[in-house]
Amino acid sequence: MNKQSHHQELPPDRLKNETLVIHADDEVTNDGTVAPAIYYSATFRAQDSAEFADMAGTPRHPRYYTRYGNPVHERVKKVMAELEGTETALVTGSGMGAIATTILALVSAGDHVIAQTRHYMSTAKIMDEMLPRFGVEVTLVEQADITAFEAAIRPNTKLIMVESPANPTLVVTDLAAVAELARSRGIIVVADNTFATPINQRPHDLGIDVVVHSATKYLGGHHDLTAGVICTSEELAERIWHTHISIGSVLSPMDAWLLLRGLRTLPMRVERINANALALAEFLEEQPQIERVYYPGLASHPQHELAKRQMRGFGGMIAFEIKGGYDATERFVSALKLSLNAVSLGGVDSLVVHTAAMWGGVMTEEQMRTAGIQPNFVRYSVGLEHIDDLKADLLQALQVV
Ligand SMILES: *Cc1c(COP(=O)(O)O)cnc(C)c1O
Repeated sequence: MNKQSHHQELPPDRLKNETLVIHADDEVTNDGTVAPAIYYSATFRAQDSAEFADMAGTPRHPRYYTRYGNPVHERVKKVMAELEGTETALVTGSGMGAIATTILALVSAGDHVIAQTRHYMSTAKIMDEMLPRFGVEVTLVEQADITAFEAAIRPNTKLIMVESPANPTLVVTDLAAVAELARSRGIIVVADNTFATPINQRPHDLGIDVVVHSATKYLGGHHDLTAGVICTSEELAERIWHTHISIGSVLSPMDAWLLLRGLRTLPMRVERINANALALAEFLEEQPQIERVYYPGLASHPQHELAKRQMRGFGGMIAFEIKGGYDATERFVSALKLSLNAVSLGGVDSLVVHTAAMWGGVMTEEQMRTAGIQPNFVRYSVGLEHIDDLKADLLQALQVV
């Protein structure tokens, strides 16, 4: 993408992303290793009881007890805070650990929350089922309609949850506009930045208070770990951490180490995945067997202009509809050879999901239609394979539909 489309230039004196992911954590543990050491210890000893008292009484201490913190966590936190441009970060054992912990830390009975009609499924369940059980009211709004967010605000609104681009149709939320609505009213805005990654979108620059991630996806990038990250201010991180140690969504030191290894190549991977995805989206749009392609980087996406304003690249998630309905779509997905039929996204391998088949067991057809999932809907996570091979794979599978 060209420079004019950058919503906000990064400060010129800031190290570039490619450098930050390799060196931001150099000074975090002063132990002389080049590759990070894995501190595989659940607990850490004090020199004397005065030091022990200090460790026990210091929130987010990196060497007290691994549920509270761990030196490898510190490295991941440093890299992620630098990438997202926030004061600090927290790490959790999964993306849902990050999202659930953040929400439970920031709302109480009697509060009101605004969220989108479309969210990652387990986030939607927090809104639909969990929060109401604890006396928190939730209003779901159509994310493309900024006036819907404003209309939903009440005197007791505490938190707005956004996700952009969102599953499954890659609808985009105007992050700056939501942040603007919330700021003067003291409402905290939480953004799930999993699909975009901080390489393509920095929500905090647009005024978002808390940026959450499923690090299982692009940040880890190799389909081998589950992890979550919460990037925010020192003040909010401390509030969220107190809930975190009670919820206990702990990232294992090994997974933290794998995540760090994944982060070292994040900018390169995302750049290539952006290019692959745009090329595939354009290619799919030309195929006669395809009814419609959803990708924020296409001029045909209804919010392409907004996406260009707030994103530096459009990410690796594309969705499309196959002409011919459920059975044709099933044949197509089964005929793919390189693109593996598996959930999750954001790794080196391209993954494909026939969404209606995935939700068929848990949702009625009616519910799926409301969620925008047609029987012929395919979600595709573009990986790092060569673009020519991916195109050839899609092309041969389209012959059987
Ligand atoms: C996968 C995902 C999550 C949940 O993350 P886990 O690591 O699976 O717990 C949340 N939000 C989005 C957008 C996701 O893709």
